[in-house]
Amino acid sequence: MNVLVINSGSSSIKYQLIDMPSETVKATGLIERIGAENAKITYKKDDFKTSKELHIANHEEGLTQMNRFLMHKEFGVIADKDDIKIVGHRVVHGGQSFSKTVEITEIVKSKIQSLCTLAPLHNPPNLKGIEVAENVFSKARQVAVFDTAFLQTMPQKAYQYAIPKSFLEKEDIRAYGFHGTSHKYVSEKAQEFLDYRNQSSSKLISIHLGNGCSMTAIKDGKAIDHSMGFGPANGLIMGIRAGDIDQSVIFYLMDKLGYSAKEVNDILLKESGMLGLTGSNDLRDIQQKAEAGNKDCRLALEMNAYRIKKYIGAYAVALNGLDAIIFTAGIGENSALMRDLVCRDMDVLGLQLDQNNNKMALSEIRDISTKTSKVKILVIPTNEELEIAKQAYKIL
Ligand code: AMP
Repeated sequence: MNVLVINSGSSSIKYQLIDMPSETVKATGLIERIGAENAKITYKKDDFKTSKELHIANHEEGLTQMNRFLMHKEFGVIADKDDIKIVGHRVVHGGQSFSKTVEITEIVKSKIQSLCTLAPLHNPPNLKGIEVAENVFSKARQVAVFDTAFLQTMPQKAYQYAIPKSFLEKEDIRAYGFHGTSHKYVSEKAQEFLDYRNQSSSKLISIHLGNGCSMTAIKDGKAIDHSMGFGPANGLIMGIRAGDIDQSVIFYLMDKLGYSAKEVNDILLKESGMLGLTGSNDLRDIQQKAEAGNKDCRLALEMNAYRIKKYIGAYAVALNGLDAIIFTAGIGENSALMRDLVCRDMDVLGLQLDQNNNKMALSEIRDISTKTSKVKILVIPTNEELEIAKQAYKIL
């Protein structure tokens, strides 16, 4: 059965057509700069890749153009758009309303709409993608997969902030977390890999290191703690976000240095992290410069790894033990140096990295711990699109 996975942004749509349950990717692509004269659509099928620049006025036209590629006589993969039976949508914020994947109804849409205040940059274009797909694929069933859903199992002691409780009760101000689809996917892969399906307990920490970075403590398959919070700013040092910071800094910037709230927000979310520390948010550049002796880059890498180590320590305690840590996403999957820095001097947890395995190129899931390491160290490529297709197919 053909499942189309859509990740709709304000001016872009990422798509992937996946056959389920075989999990075969039939085609993938990206529609970018929607609304501009020089919009671009990219289409990829196996090794074949093509792209076209054209004016795409809106999201609906974008999906119509995508269909032309999907149904193309030479390199298309479907004969008719109605061959797509399910459309799975990535929705960033499900708030407290959605703890799992749901089929989209009018009620679901109005709840996603009401959650736009919590995710003003993401939920509105996600909702637009849903509405447009309902028109274009009127015979398909539409499913919403929420980035926050997997993290809804966090206990209240983990998600509540120690501020007056009316803010939680009346305004839903609490930690939600993000990247849940990725954390779910890699932790289930890890459980299969470690053959924990039949065991009563597993204690995992998944470390998603990309442009955005987050960590989740997962006990028996359920998230019990997570490093991001109310928004995607908390926790680890990211490409352009600061992560954990004492709120006193914010008030100092505003009250003493005269920055506006918007300016402070921009500093913390767009100009900080590795970019603020080194001038680049591309870890490959930073690694190269560090190797060439750049002190700022070296320090930034160490700060980044140190923050991750602290969360590993905290989560090992929260889990009361640790079976495996999982590295995933652009940096987690590809940077042997970052994995090395994180796993150094972790004797307290009995965590030992096999240096040779760590440096080998990644194929599928890889165990890069030594034979005597008490904790497995896994590298697992994430695949959020496949996870969305799996969940959408499963609930229908
Ligand atoms: P993502 O958001 O998952 O696409 O990850 C993007 C991040 O992964 C960027 O910081 C890239 O520099 C980093 N990245 C991608 N490939 C590599 C690589 N081979 N070595 C180190 N970092 C990488």
